[in-house]
Amino acid sequence: PATRKREGRKAAPKQLVLPQTVSVKHLSELLNATSIEVIKQLMRNGVMASMNQVIDFDVAAPVVASFGMRPKLEQQAAPGSIAPLEAEEEDPSTLQLRPPVVAILGHVDHGKTTLLDTIRKSHIVTSEVGNITQHIGAYQVRYNDHPITFLDTPGHEAFTAIRARGAQLTDIAVLVVAADDGIMAQTAEAINHARAADVPIVVAINKIDSPGADPEKVKRQLSEHSLLVEEWGGDVIAVPLSAKLGEGIEDLLENLLVVSEISELKANPNRSAAGVVVEAKLDRNRGPLATVLVQNGTLRVGDQMVAGTAWGRVKAMVNDLGRRIKEAGPSVPVEVMGFDSLPEAGDRFLVTADEKTARSTAEERLKESTRGRLGALAMEDVYTGIASGEIRELNLVLKADVQGSLEAIQSALEQVNAEKARVRILHAGSGTITESDVLLARASKAIILGFNSTTEPGAEGLAERERVQIRHYDIIYRLTEDVEKALQGILEPTQREIILGRAEIRAVFSARKLAKIAGCFVIDGRITRSASVRIIRDGQVVHEGQISSLRHFKQDVKEMAVGYECGVGIENFSDFQERDLLEAYRVERVRP
Ligand code: GDP
Repeated sequence: PATRKREGRKAAPKQLVLPQTVSVKHLSELLNATSIEVIKQLMRNGVMASMNQVIDFDVAAPVVASFGMRPKLEQQAAPGSIAPLEAEEEDPSTLQLRPPVVAILGHVDHGKTTLLDTIRKSHIVTSEVGNITQHIGAYQVRYNDHPITFLDTPGHEAFTAIRARGAQLTDIAVLVVAADDGIMAQTAEAINHARAADVPIVVAINKIDSPGADPEKVKRQLSEHSLLVEEWGGDVIAVPLSAKLGEGIEDLLENLLVVSEISELKANPNRSAAGVVVEAKLDRNRGPLATVLVQNGTLRVGDQMVAGTAWGRVKAMVNDLGRRIKEAGPSVPVEVMGFDSLPEAGDRFLVTADEKTARSTAEERLKESTRGRLGALAMEDVYTGIASGEIRELNLVLKADVQGSLEAIQSALEQVNAEKARVRILHAGSGTITESDVLLARASKAIILGFNSTTEPGAEGLAERERVQIRHYDIIYRLTEDVEKALQGILEPTQREIILGRAEIRAVFSARKLAKIAGCFVIDGRITRSASVRIIRDGQVVHEGQISSLRHFKQDVKEMAVGYECGVGIENFSDFQERDLLEAYRVERVRP
């Protein structure tokens, strides 16, 4: 049946990549049609537009479809990154089909690892059997002579972590659902993560050998998540299988090739390589080792390369069978030796013309990363983004204490209207805000809204590092009001205060004129010259202001640490008293 399916899908519509906005004239050129034909089609869809009018992707997409093509939104480069070498930029005549890169997602214990093992064991090319396989983070198998690349780390956390660094690596997501357990919390999360990434989903209904297996129930549950399987009139492929017994694996691989064919994955092998780092580790003898998945071009030993802030020359390459190779083409995973330092998973990888370019690119990026990463979004910045046309959608990740409030919030948000942008909920779930929520928000430039929900400690740290904004609410009205204000550009920036340190005033000295200096002993943290301070007497704040002088003995200092004495002067204030508490703080605009 799989073969038949494959034949039937061969005439897949051609893909047309469109920018976020396009003029009617340009669209008609892309469609190889006249402007009149496009305008007529727009009218049929209820849109009146003139030839020079600029329309949104959302408006253009149905027109493209009516011309028998498949619309796709152009991926935008993450700010600060080298523009991705998209296959679309290439002269089409240089492009060749490339193998799909597949990620395995699903709930814990539903059989992701078993599936990866089974596929790998049963589909290594026969002549290679006996070779010691190497875990390098990805592997490639062949089915009917067609290679398929699998990412070896299952789960949507790994999947989204790579995306959060600005790279799109996966072409197809396999959603593993255990037939005896059905769709669980992480299954739903995985669906939303794959959707946010705009990656097609193939469902593997696993454990059909298990006594409690109920594949039909799984299909019904899938439909509740808007994944309609073929028998139900949809276009989602669901393959029943047993990862443990190795049943149905061929059918899955066959179908992955079908989806791959529809997606028309192409690359130009005859150019310098570009790709993504999948995994990196430090080897005691060989130095930094990074597994790279080539997305375009061919990587060769001797090439100069840069990935993130690491650079170097390819000294040697090893494939997933532990064999030394001299070159690696599109979708081939290789472990590369020769980096000066460790790149990170998700870093974009690029071959440069010479050593100088590799080094200077890495150094430039290092400077950028210390300046703080770009790319995340604060709700207060939404309006500027909308006004400049950068943002058409306010992406949200919603977390609420209970399902009931979640539904209420979702329907309230549906009522929020704005002219130029709309709200898009990437993921809504009950429970605490997790690291995977933060990564999803980072990857999709979303903001996390928590309703009566707390943040896991790990997630809080990650959000701070990745500059993802988390906002908490306990009244639904306030939440929707903020979203509305953000869309209208009237949301006040929120501020956060960071306590730097505290000191006790132990003596008061007279300085020039009427000014007084407080002789302090730092009891906690540190007092810095640039800090704001407040004076607290018997639990009451008596003054708030700026430090005007900070001295250690006679010397001006920038900061004083815990356990030291210092003299503090405060602008326009001299009413110090012994035993007052001096609290130093810094106000930060809360933004991711
Ligand atoms: P993961 O957490 O999704 O990676 O799940 P694992 O691959 O570790 O599998 C969890 C458990 O399910 C293990 O005990 C597997 O042996 C079992 N399992 C995996 N696939 C199948 C299957 O097809 N049938 C049955 N009966 N058990 C399976």
